[in-house]
Amino acid sequence: PSNYTTPDYYPTPNGGWDANWADAYAKAQKVVSNMTLAEKVNITSGTGFLMGPCVGQTGSALRFGIPRLCLQDGPLGIRNTDHNSAFPAGVTAGATWDKDLMYARGVAIGEEARGKGINVQMGPVVGPLGRKPRSGRIWEGFGADPSLQGIAAAQTIQGMQSTGVIATLKHYILNEQEMYRMTDVVQVGYSSDIDDRTLHEIYLWPFAEGVRAGVGSIMAAYNHVNGSLCTQNSQILNGLLKDELGFQGFVVSDWYAQFGGVSSALAGLDMAMPGDGAIPLLGDTFWNSELSRAILNGTVPLERLNDMVTRILATWFQMEQDEDYPLPNFSTNTEDATGPLYPGALFSPSGVVNQFVDVQGNHSNIAREVARDAITLLKNVNQTLPLSTNASLSIFGTDAGPNSGGLNSCSDMGCDNGILTMGWGSGSARLPYVITPQQAIHNISANAQFHISDSFPSVSPSSDDIAIVFINADSGENYITVESNPGDRTTAGLNAWHDGDDLVVDAAARYSTVIVVVHTVGPILMEKWIDLPSVKAVLVAHLPGQEAGNSLTDVLFGDYSPSGHLPYTIPHMESEYPASVGLIDQWFSQIQDQFTERIYIDYRHFLQANITPRFPFGYGLSYTTFNFSDATLAAGASLTEYPPARPTKGPTPTYATTIPPASEVAWPTNFDRIWRYLYPYLDNPAAATSTAPYPYPTGYKTTPQPAPRAGGAQGGNPGLWDTVFTVNMKVTNTGMRSGRAVAQLYVELPEDTLGVDLPPRQLRQFEKTSILAPGESETLSLPVSRKDLSVWDVVVQDWKAPVNGQKVKFWIGESVALEDMKVVCTV
Ligand code: BGC
Repeated sequence: PSNYTTPDYYPTPNGGWDANWADAYAKAQKVVSNMTLAEKVNITSGTGFLMGPCVGQTGSALRFGIPRLCLQDGPLGIRNTDHNSAFPAGVTAGATWDKDLMYARGVAIGEEARGKGINVQMGPVVGPLGRKPRSGRIWEGFGADPSLQGIAAAQTIQGMQSTGVIATLKHYILNEQEMYRMTDVVQVGYSSDIDDRTLHEIYLWPFAEGVRAGVGSIMAAYNHVNGSLCTQNSQILNGLLKDELGFQGFVVSDWYAQFGGVSSALAGLDMAMPGDGAIPLLGDTFWNSELSRAILNGTVPLERLNDMVTRILATWFQMEQDEDYPLPNFSTNTEDATGPLYPGALFSPSGVVNQFVDVQGNHSNIAREVARDAITLLKNVNQTLPLSTNASLSIFGTDAGPNSGGLNSCSDMGCDNGILTMGWGSGSARLPYVITPQQAIHNISANAQFHISDSFPSVSPSSDDIAIVFINADSGENYITVESNPGDRTTAGLNAWHDGDDLVVDAAARYSTVIVVVHTVGPILMEKWIDLPSVKAVLVAHLPGQEAGNSLTDVLFGDYSPSGHLPYTIPHMESEYPASVGLIDQWFSQIQDQFTERIYIDYRHFLQANITPRFPFGYGLSYTTFNFSDATLAAGASLTEYPPARPTKGPTPTYATTIPPASEVAWPTNFDRIWRYLYPYLDNPAAATSTAPYPYPTGYKTTPQPAPRAGGAQGGNPGLWDTVFTVNMKVTNTGMRSGRAVAQLYVELPEDTLGVDLPPRQLRQFEKTSILAPGESETLSLPVSRKDLSVWDVVVQDWKAPVNGQKVKFWIGESVALEDMKVVCTV
């Protein structure tokens, strides 16, 4: 069993008390006060797997102009459709360290979702956060640090939601490995067992930033936390998310993550997806008709249902989806133009399901820019890069070429064939096209020979020939196994796939100049070749999406300097990580995944354990060099040990409290039922009202909890985001080529005053310059908030900052490593 327990936190705090949402809640309240029970239940419940065009959809309330809401994946573009873009993955966006590009990518994803009629687009991802380097889905998020994840997610959410689509921040929370994430017939999904401080300082942090950015929905994960399933964990949903973080939107379950009707409702779940019970397509459900029954017999308080519906509709109004929002014009289930409208039903009416609407606009530009500005140069001996366009090149590796089976031949990208543009699973999107490196190099260089194979051909290079070797490492979601890797990189480990290391070593034995290009989901081991004398340059191009080749040649041939930085650490070997971040593979009993390394993940661990990795977090070279100077520190709000008192909550909507008449969920007369479609109706609703009371979860109560002192607005107490210092400094391009620099701000906090152990440095802010010509300078401004300087005080349950003349150091550099630090300020 878990080492920790999950305290009860009931009842669910009603939404609507944050001023930013007041208008939307007022509109929602008007509608909800006039809804029947059936209409309310409709809005909260998915109508079943394969019961509409999207990966999930609710019922409707057409009397009020509310259509079935369409929920669709995913974080890098729209999954399983056509005429869409396949953007660079989250990890690639993270590697740009460019807030504007993160925002612009979000806008483009949002525009495409809106264009297809998607109400709720299920991204971005900040969980997994990147605790386990082998974890299958770390590439969907932005990198192994809470501030990087939080800033990137907030930019993405604001970009997406500026178009009117509702973003979904997922997976809440501690879904840090793929294997055994879900409860199935064999075994209960794993429990992530964590202490309160680690939870707040590492894993909850980016969710807080997302809530602060106004995210409309949050997806509850498959796994358990401290022994209680995420979808029915009252502490993490009611307590942390809805009270402490002041979340005003709605919580949606991950697909088939719901395992109880009443328990999940009381714990704070607002929308069940896809609506089926534990097993798809049996026609049973935890909500829908069962939620109607639970309201009639009083086991779910009406107030809770009203809050669920109000939260969902308020979010819909908040994004202005009541004004001219398109209906879905695509089907995630088929590429045919016409077909069954409810493919999950045996007999379904047919109609037009795909209108093939082209939503790409000019998004290839932003896709290319993000991919290009993420490219991370790790080694460049003797300025091997950039290449001259007439260099004699030999290109090796299938990763340079196309998927030999066809562009989108593997469902949900579940294979590693050709250029690796993204990982696999629900976080993938079909490629509209891909510019392979082969194609892009061919377009520029008349002197390139291509050996698109993973075994080394017989070649006899002349002395000035240059080899470019492409290797990759893939991973994805657990429902697909690729080359024996069930999502997580179990078999491949952190090694390059398809004997990529051998390919590099072979090339290095024959060519005096070898450039390695890596496409990877996360950390990859390089020790077999990184120090070979002929390996002169290494580029990590992450997961570039459709513009893979163009973004790479932009950098290879010197039109742009590389400006990406690693969003994680690259170790020498896996044993450098703490043992507790390895994958856990254990049958038959529930895995207790103990977060015993606590806050020491990724670079925090390497710093603490005094291990110099192969390449530190934040590392990345340029074709030019930068000087950071003239650092000044401006004081802002004064720092107190704890933040100022939280604001009180505003009012929330109130409704009539009498249980509605059973007739409101009777089947309408002459109703044409779709087989297996999940409805809110009951055959004999009157019978439901007489059922004996249901035993509530232990600890259940109806009196609201005292408002948590760390809360007070979206994200938490607004005082936490007071700027207490601003670091300004000048960045000058001191080299011979144009380029962009990234200033990364790390804080060093005093352990003794704060009374806790801390890593020597933690990332809290970053800024990227525009393209600076040689000699040119730019002033960057990095705000530091109260929260940035605080630790979570588990006793007081609040954020505690150092005061009374205690030293705080700001380290600003081009990576977390001391030798890359350029400016240090102490207060
Ligand atoms: C994934 C989610 C996804 C959902 C719907 C689940 O398996 O974990 O990320 O949004 O399916 O496709």
